[in-house]
Amino acid sequence: QARIGNGAVQICDLSFGYSPETPVIHDLSLQIPAGSFYGVVGHTGSGKSTLLSLLLRFYTAQSGRIEIDGVALNEIAEETFRSQIGLVPQDPFLLAASARENIDMGRGLSDIEIETAAKAARCHDFILALEQGYATPLGEGGAKLSVGQKQLLAIARALAGKPRILFLDEATAHIDSETEQIVQQALNALRGNVTLIAIAHRLSTIRDADRIIVLNHGRIAEEGNHEGL
Ligand code: ATP
Ligand code: MG
Repeated sequence: QARIGNGAVQICDLSFGYSPETPVIHDLSLQIPAGSFYGVVGHTGSGKSTLLSLLLRFYTAQSGRIEIDGVALNEIAEETFRSQIGLVPQDPFLLAASARENIDMGRGLSDIEIETAAKAARCHDFILALEQGYATPLGEGGAKLSVGQKQLLAIARALAGKPRILFLDEATAHIDSETEQIVQQALNALRGNVTLIAIAHRLSTIRDADRIIVLNHGRIAEEGNHEGL
């Protein structure tokens, strides 16, 4: 059974189009070391979400390879894949349930596991400040929370599964600069514990990334750190 080790990601000569005549990802190669923090930026339509979809196995590339710790993506058992990969989607789906249930998601996690994940995602404090703490109903779609708080809660939910690789698709909606800073700090605090691949709409969110990839029409146009770009 193919297992995932430490969460290194290798992408080799990857090409993909939703229809074969219009390629969206062109011959893309990228090596992401285990435990590193990679940011992906690029203007709208540049292929960021498509690349993420390929990494998540939602689609299969027409050519090229993706490997995790040297194992081809399609050879990893579904259960292993799901337990090792965490996703923070652009618009996290929140249940009309308590903060705790929204992190647990029916996995039967202990209070310690819930709180550890919430602390790592920097949402422990705002949850405690809610009128009933972790037991507070968040309302339909998390109506009680700001966009940034929803994203933090979604990070906690993903972290609670103890993934080795965490993908984050940053919310496009407006978030206030204080929350933005908190998301940025939450990502920085994860450094080294998980391979973090964050699609960002604001360069500031990933300013501390080890490496920033700039996508342009499905190709890597630039690669470097925040200062270099
Ligand atoms: P954004 O910043 O707006 O989220 P993005 O970089 O994530 O953009 P993608 O969503 O990956 O860009 O889109 C890349 C290209 O693929 C675009 O031309 C888009 O229209 C096209 N595309 C995206 N999803 C699909 C789909 N499901 N079917 C067909 N074409 C798609
Ligand atoms: Mg996108």
